[in-house]
Amino acid sequence: EKYVYFFGNGEAEGKADMKNLLGGKGANLAEMTAIGLPVPPGFTITTEVCTYYYANQKSYPSVLAAEVANNLKRVEAIMGRTFGDPKNPLLVSVRSGARASMPGMMDTILNLGLNDETVQGIIAQSGDERFAYDAYRRFVQMYSDVVMGMDKEALEHLLEEKKEAKGVHLDTDLTAADWKELVGAFKSKIKETLGTDFPENPQDQLWGAIGAVFGSWMNQRAITYRRLNGIPADWGTAVNVQSMVYGNMGNDCATGVAFTRDPSTGENYFYGEYLVNAQGEDVVAGIRTPQPINRANSKDATLPAMEEVLPECYQQLVQIRGILEKHYRDMQDIEFTIEKGKLFMLQTRNGKRTAKAAIKVAVDMVKEGLIDEKTAVLRVSPSQLDQLLHPSLDPKAPRTIIAKGLPASPGAASGEVVFTADEAEAAGRLGLKVILVRVETSPEDIHGMHAAQGILTARGGMTSHAAVVARGMGKCCVAGCGDIKVDYAASQFVTAKGQVVKKGDTITLDGSTGEVMLGEVPTVAPQLTGDFGVLMGWVDQYRTLKVRTNADTPNDSRVAREFGAEGIGLCRTEHMFFEADRIAAVREMILSEDVEGRTKALAKILPMQKGDFLGIFREMKDLPVTIRLLDPPLHEFLPQEEKDVDALAKTMGVTAQTLKNKVDYLHEFNPMLGHRGCRLGLTFPEIYDMQVQAIMEAACELTKNEGFTIVPEIMIPLVGVVSELARLRENTVRVCEEVIARYGVKIDYLIGTMIELPRAALTADEIAREADFFSFGTNDLTQTTFGLSRDDAGKFLPFYVESGLLEEDPFVSLDQNGVGILVKMAVEKGRATRAGIKLGICGEHGGDPSSVIFCHKIGLDYVSCSPFRVPIARLAAAHAAL
Ligand code: ADP
Ligand code: MG
Ligand code: MG
Repeated sequence: EKYVYFFGNGEAEGKADMKNLLGGKGANLAEMTAIGLPVPPGFTITTEVCTYYYANQKSYPSVLAAEVANNLKRVEAIMGRTFGDPKNPLLVSVRSGARASMPGMMDTILNLGLNDETVQGIIAQSGDERFAYDAYRRFVQMYSDVVMGMDKEALEHLLEEKKEAKGVHLDTDLTAADWKELVGAFKSKIKETLGTDFPENPQDQLWGAIGAVFGSWMNQRAITYRRLNGIPADWGTAVNVQSMVYGNMGNDCATGVAFTRDPSTGENYFYGEYLVNAQGEDVVAGIRTPQPINRANSKDATLPAMEEVLPECYQQLVQIRGILEKHYRDMQDIEFTIEKGKLFMLQTRNGKRTAKAAIKVAVDMVKEGLIDEKTAVLRVSPSQLDQLLHPSLDPKAPRTIIAKGLPASPGAASGEVVFTADEAEAAGRLGLKVILVRVETSPEDIHGMHAAQGILTARGGMTSHAAVVARGMGKCCVAGCGDIKVDYAASQFVTAKGQVVKKGDTITLDGSTGEVMLGEVPTVAPQLTGDFGVLMGWVDQYRTLKVRTNADTPNDSRVAREFGAEGIGLCRTEHMFFEADRIAAVREMILSEDVEGRTKALAKILPMQKGDFLGIFREMKDLPVTIRLLDPPLHEFLPQEEKDVDALAKTMGVTAQTLKNKVDYLHEFNPMLGHRGCRLGLTFPEIYDMQVQAIMEAACELTKNEGFTIVPEIMIPLVGVVSELARLRENTVRVCEEVIARYGVKIDYLIGTMIELPRAALTADEIAREADFFSFGTNDLTQTTFGLSRDDAGKFLPFYVESGLLEEDPFVSLDQNGVGILVKMAVEKGRATRAGIKLGICGEHGGDPSSVIFCHKIGLDYVSCSPFRVPIARLAAAHAAL
């Protein structure tokens, strides 16, 4: 077995499609090398070694040492330098790299191989003593932190003391002698703190670093990131060992990161940032404000662009940009370093992007002939689309702008200011909206960024940690807002104009402009035209699963149609009962002692219900509409307050006490399993009769007078036994036929049921005898299958998910191995009885991408979801079909 893959000098043993084995970074370093790009030589230790390491008490395969030694020799031969050689040493970086990119999660060590002897060789190579000792002290800092577990702050403190003693402010003001002294001081401090010597032997350093990379796979930040992004722990990370190139050897050196297109808007221009005379992560860390690579997208005209400062390297980089895009056929996120005017590529990967950018890049690349339509559809992830479907700030609303930063990740967010990730998380648990404000973010802040509505940082560029992570999460972010001064100790920030914003104050961020505003700014509905429309056109061409919506009002119906809904899968009639002017009549009905009383009250509701259906049918034109008859427990309609009871008693002509007794009698201990759904329809048939009458009168009227062709789908909820449905079907048919005869029109209608109790799924073959269609009510089906009350689950379900007892909240994503099996079984049984039975799903799951894909697989005809999720479901359906 082969554990190490070499790359260098135009040859590579790995390839881009070997990500599982080499990790993303290693696979792409190999690929870039093979297509002739300038990549410093190195080798990749495979993810299988990581798996081996954790399976074998943190030890390595026996052949690994020899393979590493051989590959190191090959690198030395290319570089003409030798690892550990005091005269002419080779230095390397040790870099982690998992299959899926995990930005900032794993720790990289630079300048490895330095000790008191080899530093002399670096001085000889570079002719620059200051550079050599600066590299050395960086190495000691990184290595002691990552590998030895030394507290970073302790060494930073020594550095600060040194600067104070010398009376200088900047690192750049320190001399070679200062750095040399600091290296010594650092090492003493490390020894003093940890009781161990800093390793001088380069081989020990190398193996220490390799072990640390594998070790970091199981550190807390990595575990959190994997949990949030659904990355399995057993994938493991690879380790890349690569010869160093130096971006910090002078003013003809630089380091930078770039995107081949704008990751925020998707626009087709080269977008990036760089720093002259800097190493490694200086750009991303936000320690110095980076400069633009070109003038065209420079936000600050005073900063010199790379195209002006290092024009030849810039031109070469532009060329490489073209090569990479043609080669990968996707937008790339690259890292580069320039050593003494010579450009080196250190990383490329498919760039993370906002939903807006994802769509624009996909549509543009089809136009440019780089990809086909199907690929374009697959490039946009359904869950990411959510970002675009939400309101943005109303451009007409007044804004009190208090500061401006970089538009790092678009969208709008309002919330109360908090200053730590833990505060954000705690507030999120309580359902509060917060904006996380930090000087800059680091991987330790991920959980807080997740919980916050938006993120504001004082430092860092468009490629800073905050910006990259926020874009990945689809969160609004304003980064590098130099206008604000964050004071953690006082829990406040101060703007350039001296305005103080305290913890708990509400602010609004506009991630598309970088504006920070005081208070909450109103929002407007999203725009669904342009590239979005083009992409959704392709989406609709490739999907077979239909997408309907859950809508109860003409207004929701219109919104859903604009989002592309092809019908209503669930119209809940009870929402129509709760309106203020109707509830009295509803209460009168349920509290009546006899049929007459109920009928009298229902007569008041009939015209209102009919009006609702007229509105919805009109809005939906001739698209199918499934209407569910009254479902919730009567319990929910009961008057609670004394004044309501008194008023109602008067209307009904009974004493308040009588009415109160009735209310007490109707009280239920477990209403969700109580007197609801078809149980109501069976015990109080006049309720469903009235609803059916209203539906059919509306449909007949529109058919007769306005030329509609409506086929109402009448849905009976909470059926567990076929006899329930049989009886209610009989009643429904009777009322339908009466109305049809009265109007004298020809109109079809369907009668079906929800499958939302395990017994219904288990006996779906029997139930199908009486049902023209099934709609899977997976909210209730999840609740009843798990025996888990949706209304009470908030107290323990989050714990289940966080602690890994459940992979996901089963109310968010359909539990395919449990509830899903019931659904699948009911589909098969239903079809066995009635081949053409219409099948759909109307739970919240209808808008969850992985659940939609499941629905496609088991052969449902449609999914139904809330209006805002319709485009997400359409895209997921296309992904399922491709
Ligand atoms: P991350 O995955 O956190 O981006 P990287 O391994 O890409 O970590 O490295 C961190 C930084 O160090 C990057 O800026 C990268 O370009 C730089 N770097 C890594 N290896 C080398 C090298 N051999 N020479 C110069 N810079 C390097
Ligand atoms: Mg990197
Ligand atoms: Mg239900």
